[in-house]
Amino acid sequence: MIAYLERFVHGNDVESRQDEDDDCSSLCDALDLQGSIDCVATGLAGKDFGGLYSMKPLALVRPVGSDDVARVVKAVARSSNLTVAARGNGHSINGQAMVDRGLVIDMRSMEDHFQVVRINGTAYVDVSGGALWEDVLKRCVSGFGLAPRSWTDYLSLTVGGTLSNAGVSGQAFRYGPQTSNVTELEVVTGKGDIFVCSETENSELFFGALGGLGQFGIITRARVLLQPAPDMVRWIRVVYTEFEEFTRDAEFLVTRQEGDSFDYVEGFVFVNSDDPSNGWPTVPIDPNQTFDPTRIPRTAGSVLYCLEVALHYRNTEHPSTVDTVVDRLLGRLGFVENLKFEVDLSYMEFLLRVKRAEEHAKANGIWDAPHPWLNLFVSKSDIADFDRTVFKNILKAGVGGPMLVYPLLRSMWDTRTSVVIPEDEIFYIVALLRFSPPYQKCPSAEKMVAQNHEVIQCCIKRGFDFKLYLPHYDSQDGWKRHFGNQWTRFVEMKADFDPLAILAPGQKIFSRNR
Ligand code: FAD
Repeated sequence: MIAYLERFVHGNDVESRQDEDDDCSSLCDALDLQGSIDCVATGLAGKDFGGLYSMKPLALVRPVGSDDVARVVKAVARSSNLTVAARGNGHSINGQAMVDRGLVIDMRSMEDHFQVVRINGTAYVDVSGGALWEDVLKRCVSGFGLAPRSWTDYLSLTVGGTLSNAGVSGQAFRYGPQTSNVTELEVVTGKGDIFVCSETENSELFFGALGGLGQFGIITRARVLLQPAPDMVRWIRVVYTEFEEFTRDAEFLVTRQEGDSFDYVEGFVFVNSDDPSNGWPTVPIDPNQTFDPTRIPRTAGSVLYCLEVALHYRNTEHPSTVDTVVDRLLGRLGFVENLKFEVDLSYMEFLLRVKRAEEHAKANGIWDAPHPWLNLFVSKSDIADFDRTVFKNILKAGVGGPMLVYPLLRSMWDTRTSVVIPEDEIFYIVALLRFSPPYQKCPSAEKMVAQNHEVIQCCIKRGFDFKLYLPHYDSQDGWKRHFGNQWTRFVEMKADFDPLAILAPGQKIFSRNR
């Protein structure tokens, strides 16, 4: 079997397609997989949502279960120079799920595992690492009236993919990121061993794999905490001219007790103009709503801020009860009067809201164009300076898409996981979600990448306490700085769980050991 793999690597350029096909079926036979291997139609695995990188893997493996994953990892470990990556839904930006001339494991082909379990009165769902969050949502809500507590904004992402990073949205202030909402994982390590792990069993692997950027193992199953799903959501956006007032209100909401605040808190920066992708038109929630710019005070600057909140409720609640709660909460905030937008929709419609944006973007051709996105976590102590130097200066014309900024609470993040975050108890996620319409005059992807570097350099120069989220560095020095005092532990875990450094080479943290 190893001979087949080696032949692949060394002889790939010269062998004919027929030989490759023969090799591929031989490899499949040799590995004795329940699933399949495709050496020809690997196109999907060589691309990602970012559209900035492309790579040609040797083969795309479609495993059926953890045993298949383990067999593939073991075979790669026995080869002299191959590497392997799990591919979730390929929604990375910088080639993190790609492998150059190695194997890509398509996690979405994993057998559909879905089981709701109850332990000491608490409900959990066991799902495959390759499950899409949107499918987890639909099955939990329609079958059981239950739902996970912590989400991402967009749900066509895989469970294993977001758990390898963190998984953040407007519920994270209350429940922490998705990595704080799982209690058990099944992981295939870089040695090809299958472990069930949790806070008490194989805990080093459990915490290492959470936020571990795929470096210690492939998550084949996760146990996700559930709560009763609400029926409905009131989704509200209000506008601010001053960053200080926007952050004061956002921080007020995220530090209130449950029951005395909204269930979801996010926010974004937008340009004070009629620009369709950066300005006023991006604020109304419903196509029937319009943004009346005459409401904006004359003192407003080049950018404005939108606080986005949502309240869960049940069908059985009287509309006036919901109004009373919303009015009480909004009454404590200092947004611009009459610049408020709201809609009521079902819980599932709310959580699937970005799907509609995706459909729209696909129809306009901007979904498939490059997305040089940049995500950062910035400490509260530096966020006002960040606003002055980045939002109001470097990005004052917008990024051609949402510029999210909202507070999170450090105490809701389990610092035993591999995720690294800033030091302040309150820190902000900043997400520059750039879209580059192919048919419009807009900066090239290279210019956008250069502007991302300018933002990062500005943060470094001004000494901000910040970390990249969904990090990307080209050198190990970058990674060392990123992990700071966590680096030694990260390296030790790599030596324990993936000593040959065969896993997730697209992260560019470690090179394959021979
Ligand atoms: P991939 O991109 O396929 O993989 C990501 C990394 O994880 C790779 O290194 C891969 O090898 C590894 N990996 C994948 N599966 C596994 C596994 N089972 N076990 C171990 N390693 C694995 N993130 C947020 O936190 N909040 C958001 O609101 C949010 N919104 C987004 C919206 C859009 C439109 C997009 C494109 C991305 C968004 N993200 C968000 C980022 C998202 O969390 C990352 O892209 C993440 O990597 C998940 O994507 P994926 O499942 O496609 O994983």
